Amino acid sequence: MGIQAADLARWWHLAPFGQAVIDEQGRILQVNRTLGDWLDAPMRRLVDQPASELFTPEARMLYLGLLAYRVAEHGEADEVHLTLRVKGSEPMPVLCSARLILHRGASLTLLSMLSIARKDRLERELLKARQATQRALAEKSAALAELEALHDTLSAQRAALEQANRRLGQEALSDALTGLPNRRRFDQVLGQRLKEAPLAGHVGPFSVAMLDIDHFKPVNDRHGHAAGDRVLQRLGDLLTCQLRGDDLAARIGGEEFGLLMPGTDGEAARCALERLRRAVEAHPLEGLAITLSIGVTQYRSGDTRETLMQRADDALYAAKRAGRNRIVED
Ligand code: GH3
Ligand code: MG
Ligand code: MG
Repeated sequence: MGIQAADLARWWHLAPFGQAVIDEQGRILQVNRTLGDWLDAPMRRLVDQPASELFTPEARMLYLGLLAYRVAEHGEADEVHLTLRVKGSEPMPVLCSARLILHRGASLTLLSMLSIARKDRLERELLKARQATQRALAEKSAALAELEALHDTLSAQRAALEQANRRLGQEALSDALTGLPNRRRFDQVLGQRLKEAPLAGHVGPFSVAMLDIDHFKPVNDRHGHAAGDRVLQRLGDLLTCQLRGDDLAARIGGEEFGLLMPGTDGEAARCALERLRRAVEAHPLEGLAITLSIGVTQYRSGDTRETLMQRADDALYAAKRAGRNRIVED
């Protein structure tokens, strides 16, 4: 099948490229039909126009400054993105390549334009999709940040509540003046020990003591209530210092203190309490000489809190009756 020059000349018009031949002055000598169709203009109207007029004002700068310049300098230019002006319609993006052609002593430019409207549209859609994704991501992370902030606030509130609760719990179980556990705490711990006793099979030696300051009323009367308070505080400190690991000292009432001494038999309890009684007798607290009366008892099988406390109380009463500043064991 022979292809004639006339066929090629016809096919020049059918090429899927817009084509133009441009003279040395930059004027259009010839265009193919494809370009005419794109621009919706008769081909002859395009002839003699400056080629730069084919493009939008922005693209014109690129055409002259880049494409035409490269062709003049290097004889060719490849893949320059330009935009065609289309009468009554959207500008049309094209990818332009050009070659310098020597023709009968003249330097002509062959300009080929590939439509990239589809590529452009796809890219725009892609960009839009990417922007939408980014917006959605930003919204998601903003929502997450808000959720996290809310979570932090809730955690902080919960921590504050727990702390307040702990503080209230401690306040409910401790004595404000001396900082020692109070009667409630004392009863709680004693009750717990007695409850565990049958489970453990035996309680082991376990002493409970009641302490009461002798003639404390006159101390207050003579030196004032505030001085009396300070004496109670010092005595609290002293009890805390004298305690062993498992022992518990509590302020049971006004000037009465209770001691729980687990793992301590009668002999050991007497010894420890005697040391305490002597220490108080020998060292005035806040410059005020006081003494202690002490009643002590040991756990006996079947004891309840009440029976234990009653015996300790009775022993304390006996110590008072016997002249105070002493220990009585029941
Ligand atoms: P004894 O126990 O030796 O029989 O005599 P007492 O004077 O210590 O006994 P009483 O029970 O008659 O008086 C206890 C006094 O303890 C009454 C009160 O003045 C004092 N007291 C009780 N609680 C407090 C307190 O919180 N602060 C002060 N400063 N004094 C208190
Ligand atoms: Mg007293
Ligand atoms: Mg008393």
